[in-house]
Amino acid sequence: MSAAVLRPAVAAIAVIAVMAVSLGAAPAGATPWGGRADQSEAPAGRRQPAPPWFVVRYDVVASGDVRSDLAVFSAVVDDTLRDPNGWATNGAVAFVADRRDPDLTIHLAAPAVVAAADPACSAQYSCRVGDDVYINAGRWVRGADSYRHRGRSAYRQYVINHEVGHWLGLGHQPCSAPGAPAPIMKQQSKGLGGCEPRMWPLPQERRRMLRTLAVQRPELATRP
Ligand SMILES: [Zn+2]
Repeated sequence: MSAAVLRPAVAAIAVIAVMAVSLGAAPAGATPWGGRADQSEAPAGRRQPAPPWFVVRYDVVASGDVRSDLAVFSAVVDDTLRDPNGWATNGAVAFVADRRDPDLTIHLAAPAVVAAADPACSAQYSCRVGDDVYINAGRWVRGADSYRHRGRSAYRQYVINHEVGHWLGLGHQPCSAPGAPAPIMKQQSKGLGGCEPRMWPLPQERRRMLRTLAVQRPELATRP
């Protein structure tokens, strides 16, 4: 094994070690990625933003015959990725817009573009292929039946978080129990399986994401 190969592996182990120490030392729920971000009533000043452990550079583009406003799409992507309830995980992951050298490109894509991106994709749904996330422009306008009570804005946040979740290394998850909040990695566009719609990752999904990121994309880590 060459030094060049070894170095990312060592970095990943170091990140995991730091995470493990933080997990052990912090009170329950107080870790940078803890499940308390939903509790916006937490006393002011109690939660300091964590310095980022990973930096993800992303770009937003329109692909194909798209009528929707790209500026609106871009604003929703920015807000969704940076929301403390999302994959930003209370600041542990920094999402930075970068047109020149993005790690991840998020497309507002015509259905035909999505279908052509990969044999596993279709014109009906959104899709992630490599470092490209294709948000289906048809769904962007229509939403999904499963979100008709939550509204289109919630659906848009869900689909961005779901597809970016794939890029972050996560696969699909089922509904755990009737009435439970749906995992973000459940295919909520296709149905909820008895769960309630939820457009943010569950705390356990965020913990899994941080572990996966450290192993699969050590180059994104900001700590040696
Ligand atoms: Zn999926």
